[in-house]
Amino acid sequence: MNTVTCTVCKRREAFFFRPYSGERLCRRCFSVSIEKKVRATIAQYNMLKHDDRISVAVSGGKDSLTLLHILAKIERAYPKSSLVAVSIDEGIKGYRNKALEIAAEDCREVSVEHHVVSFKKLYGYTQDEIVKRMKKEEKTQLSPCSYCGVLRRKALNIAAREVNADKIATAHTLDDETQTILLNLLHGDPLRIAREKPITDNVHPKLVQRIKPFCQTPERETTLYAYIKKTRFQDAPCPYASEAMRNDIRLFLNRMEHRHAGTKFTIFKSIENIRPAIEKIAKKAEVNECSKCGEPTTARICKACQMLQQLGML
Ligand code: SF4
Ligand code: ZN
Ligand code: ZN
Repeated sequence: MNTVTCTVCKRREAFFFRPYSGERLCRRCFSVSIEKKVRATIAQYNMLKHDDRISVAVSGGKDSLTLLHILAKIERAYPKSSLVAVSIDEGIKGYRNKALEIAAEDCREVSVEHHVVSFKKLYGYTQDEIVKRMKKEEKTQLSPCSYCGVLRRKALNIAAREVNADKIATAHTLDDETQTILLNLLHGDPLRIAREKPITDNVHPKLVQRIKPFCQTPERETTLYAYIKKTRFQDAPCPYASEAMRNDIRLFLNRMEHRHAGTKFTIFKSIENIRPAIEKIAKKAEVNECSKCGEPTTARICKACQMLQQLGML
């Protein structure tokens, strides 16, 4: 049987076909291509300075651990920069504890300090307790993920300040980004797209800038990278996972990508091209401090405090 040779090194056997570029890559060239992509994305969006302290949001899943490994590799070349992994323990029994063990092990492996912040410590309740209250009170139409997402975002920002980070790096992939774009459209909230940038603006001293070095890397490729590098990760689903519409969009986008290679890139680039116009229409809300907790918010009371208050948990 004829073996196919890698398009890049023209020596080793190819094991991966990249439909949107036509390349056939060996394991080595594939890994190098992912690392190059991340470096190029960081440079394109000016995500990092040579002396930044970077807080990597590590959940224990494949994307965040892959990002940790790649950033640790990149960061070695910048002696004035430093890396710290931050994990949020939402308090989901039988799920997050396992993921955090794996995350801690990985951090030791790449010699990166690991900082964990829990919902319980920050808010007084675990996600399990919040879900229990949601069900009991029947006061809300929101899903467990809506609460978790808002509380985690706030927790990550607080944790990043605790470790004196200049940036928060999250492992949102090209898939996450395009799903979010379509979700915002389907929710009738297109101007929200203006907020989901590869690097957020520096708008408030208490709001740590967020960067997404994987925003141009397909999830299929971050997964493959994790397998090649034999990265251990948590792959069991969260018991509360309930984002039905996102799942439908994921399936739709994957089918489109399969039939029309490059669809996800096209969506991402289209939005990048019109982003300045969207930002112009979207009124820039002033960022103040929440009257309850003092964290940055565009409202009088931040979303996290509003949600907990609604459940009688604040
Ligand atoms: Fe939180 Fe939902 Fe993710 Fe579970 S699936 S960790 S509840 S956002
Ligand atoms: Zn090769
Ligand atoms: Zn608040």
